Amino acid sequence: MKPRRTAAEAGGERVLEGLGVAAGVAIGPAHVYEAGSVAVPDYAIGAEQVEAEQRRFADAVAAARKQIAKLKTKAGALHGSAAEEMGYLLDAYMQMLAGSRLLRGVEKRIAEQRINAERAVESEIEAIAEGFAQMGDAYLAGRGEDIRDVGSRLIRQLTRTPYQTLAQAPAGSVVIAEDLSPADTALLDPKIVGGFATVLGGPEGHTAIMARSLALPAVVGVTGLLAGVRQGEMVIVDGTRGEVTVSPSPATLERAKARQEALRQEQKQLLRVAKLPSITRDGAHIALEANIELPAEVDLAVAAAAEGIGLLRTEFLFMNREAVPDEEEQYRMLRDIVRGMGGKPVTIRTLDIGNDKLIGTDGAAADTVNPALGLRAIRLSLKRRDLLEAQLAAILRAGAHGPVRILLPMITSTVEIQEVRDVLRSVARRLKRRGQRQAEEMPPLGAMIEVPGAALSADALALAAEFFALGTNDLTQYTLAIDRGDEQVAHLYNPLHPAVLRLIQFTVEAALRARIPVSVCGEMASDPRFLPLLLGLGIRDLSMAPVHLLRVKQRLRAIDLDAATRRARTIMEQADPVRIAALLDEFNGGA
Ligand code: PEP
Ligand code: MG
Repeated sequence: MKPRRTAAEAGGERVLEGLGVAAGVAIGPAHVYEAGSVAVPDYAIGAEQVEAEQRRFADAVAAARKQIAKLKTKAGALHGSAAEEMGYLLDAYMQMLAGSRLLRGVEKRIAEQRINAERAVESEIEAIAEGFAQMGDAYLAGRGEDIRDVGSRLIRQLTRTPYQTLAQAPAGSVVIAEDLSPADTALLDPKIVGGFATVLGGPEGHTAIMARSLALPAVVGVTGLLAGVRQGEMVIVDGTRGEVTVSPSPATLERAKARQEALRQEQKQLLRVAKLPSITRDGAHIALEANIELPAEVDLAVAAAAEGIGLLRTEFLFMNREAVPDEEEQYRMLRDIVRGMGGKPVTIRTLDIGNDKLIGTDGAAADTVNPALGLRAIRLSLKRRDLLEAQLAAILRAGAHGPVRILLPMITSTVEIQEVRDVLRSVARRLKRRGQRQAEEMPPLGAMIEVPGAALSADALALAAEFFALGTNDLTQYTLAIDRGDEQVAHLYNPLHPAVLRLIQFTVEAALRARIPVSVCGEMASDPRFLPLLLGLGIRDLSMAPVHLLRVKQRLRAIDLDAATRRARTIMEQADPVRIAALLDEFNGGA
């Protein structure tokens, strides 16, 4: 793309700053990941579908405009001519997406030729680009390139196709991209790719979570990244410091290698902690469990001596594939995970599609106006009973191979839990009629507490659920109205905000009164800094990505539970997040 060629300086070390979201240092040649060629679906539509197809196209245009507006805000922060050049280009893109020949042409093709929107976009783009090329003018030929870029943006919006070029990343490379979806990230093989950096993305988005799961050093929210890195150029992605160094000098490269080695040694040292009991200094047992997204992580959970799987995010089993897996396939995947845990409990969360975890296989989730507040998670499961029933059947069958628990995402009312319980009972009866092996006892049914309304009615929910799992990622997002995946508001995302802490406290107290277990499975659980506070609030069960488990255990063994409880009490009397952070840091510094 034009600005990259013009803005990338020739040689010389450059340091770009962003948000470090997964610790570690990756060093290697840049694999600049661009919009790969997307397979364009081609089909005829009926006269009655024309309007719906044009609407689908209009939605894709709106989404592409939003994406470009966001890029424009970021481009403003670039220096000098790069900002100007990028600004012009993005303005031109915006114009092409507002009442232009392109839009009219596509609408006309849909109506007159009765073809799907993707095909109409492709034909119109080709016609316009050819027109430019025939004018024999270098400037206009360049505009042809731009319009093709706009076209591929639109087609990507319409097809929601993950970029294809990721699979071609050469061994040892570091991925540099505008954005990576969680599904794209799940495709990264840590044996091939060393780490990644992106222009977009926030610290608690699922792309960041996935990076930590895969132990891939990652920096997101890097302004000027695409304009500053060329294909194959040497880069250092420092996920601990939140820095991307392009074309490092030999001295910088040496230092980065030394840091990489030191981190590796530290990780090795930590392995010794795996064998030690998970108890506080004064002997209280704290359960440390693992969050996993992919079956391959079971080995990591076992190596870190996790006491179970506290959260299995099943939606990742549904990504990067053409069709939703059927009951049998889901059963086999879950069975392997349950067996892999060798008798330790596996908490399986039902589908949590929506917000940033969109999968292309289900239109209902993908077409929501506001995915964070729309037909997502439990709401989608209760609407699509076929999906829910297949998933519950697979879980019940996997329960024949070891203990399982069922966790429901985005719960807001007891009715949702009751409805699932009814479906669960009828699925169990059906399996019995089929003569299929299943869990001997009905698995416990739990609720994620991740919506402020759920936390505030935790006392009622505790009567319907058999356990709670606090999803502090969404709880923070919804309480503070901060999109957890948006780098522009990342500085405001703060689980130490008193509003979030009070909701946690309220939930824990309701669970203790109702005598049901409560855990924390949001990212807050994985940060040793928050540990004394969570313990002090009464949490005795924490679930986190396996990579964090040993570090948390190490910290845990040094904490005095009585002192932590007293400190939590003091903290809960505070209304100022800055003061809260200071009180916590002081405690961590001293104990
Ligand atoms: C959470 O919201 O804290 C959580 C654990 O769920 P997820 O991150 O998958 O939304
Ligand atoms: Mg959540």
